[in-house]
Amino acid sequence: MNDSLNPLFLALGANIFDAELWAEVPFSFWAFVFFIFGCIVGSFLNVCIHRMPLNESLVSPPSHCPRCRYSIPWYLNVPLVTWLWLRGRCANCKAPISARYFLVELLTGLLFLLCWLRYGGESAGVALILSIFFAGLVVATFIDIEHYIIPDEITLGGWGVGVALSALVPSLHIQGPWLRAVMLSLLGSAVGAGLTYAILRLGKLLFGRQKLRFDEPTRVEFTETGVLIEGEETPFDEIFYRRSDRILFRASKLEALGRTWSDAPVRLSVERLEIGDESFNPEEVPLMIATTQEITIPREAMGFGDVKFMGAIGAFLGWPGAIFSLMASALIGAVFNLALIACGRREWSSKLPYGPYIAIAAGIWVFAGRWMLDWYLARVG
Ligand SMILES: [Zn+2]
Repeated sequence: MNDSLNPLFLALGANIFDAELWAEVPFSFWAFVFFIFGCIVGSFLNVCIHRMPLNESLVSPPSHCPRCRYSIPWYLNVPLVTWLWLRGRCANCKAPISARYFLVELLTGLLFLLCWLRYGGESAGVALILSIFFAGLVVATFIDIEHYIIPDEITLGGWGVGVALSALVPSLHIQGPWLRAVMLSLLGSAVGAGLTYAILRLGKLLFGRQKLRFDEPTRVEFTETGVLIEGEETPFDEIFYRRSDRILFRASKLEALGRTWSDAPVRLSVERLEIGDESFNPEEVPLMIATTQEITIPREAMGFGDVKFMGAIGAFLGWPGAIFSLMASALIGAVFNLALIACGRREWSSKLPYGPYIAIAAGIWVFAGRWMLDWYLARVG
């Protein structure tokens, strides 16, 4: 009976950690496994993307249609296949299911496959860790695009996972003892988070101030917590990062403190509100309603979520990867925004997702970083 069993299974029973056993299995078979595993992980990432920003549990209730609450049975929860089979509709109520579900599964599968093809030959452990890293990038990217935040589970959690896995598989950073790998991981996250924080506080990476022009006189409301423009409220926390940050405009009409001004220049910072020649403490002006056709607002490309996100990326990629990701993200962001402006598609939004640029840059580093570094060093040295 035992003789008829595949020797592979016998060996599995004997010792699954035997390196020689794994060497027997063809590289291409593992490529297939990584892809399928990636698609299954992608299916779970869809749940994370949907539920994490809402602070819902990731495990219960099980997958269901958001419209009719129809609980999706296991045989209809097959990555890629289900979405295609049902042509992007709920099996019960036929409500359309976003193509994002299919896209995330396919993207995650392909990223896992690429990690194996690029790193599997050197170290299966590194290929697996980088796959996990990409899973985090995918969740961060899609949540940031939709909600303009990156949850702490991904940023702080990712940082912890990055440091721990560096101890487990030191070759992620270096061919040496685990303690040195952990030091390099910590150094990477310190450089990533530190540089990003410095840019956020001191410099302006991409957009700086933005001048908004309206086709006709538009009502702008300043409440105790933020600014309301065309139905979108922006909290002051997201506008004023530095004491020097100012909102500037000329109000054709302005109402505050029971008074009315007309055609008055207005300057507002955290500490001071200037209307014409008069100066006020902003905290004593609970509500100000202005009409203007043009307003200048300080605007940040990045937020504190990106600081934490860069810390997590540094924990996985070390300081060279962190510096590259930060620099390349600014370039990718600039190109993307120029393209949007050229297409006339860029509309006013106080918030912008910056995380996706960082994620794309980090991805480029993982697959092409060493090659680019060699190319650069060959020309410099
Ligand atoms: Zn349904």
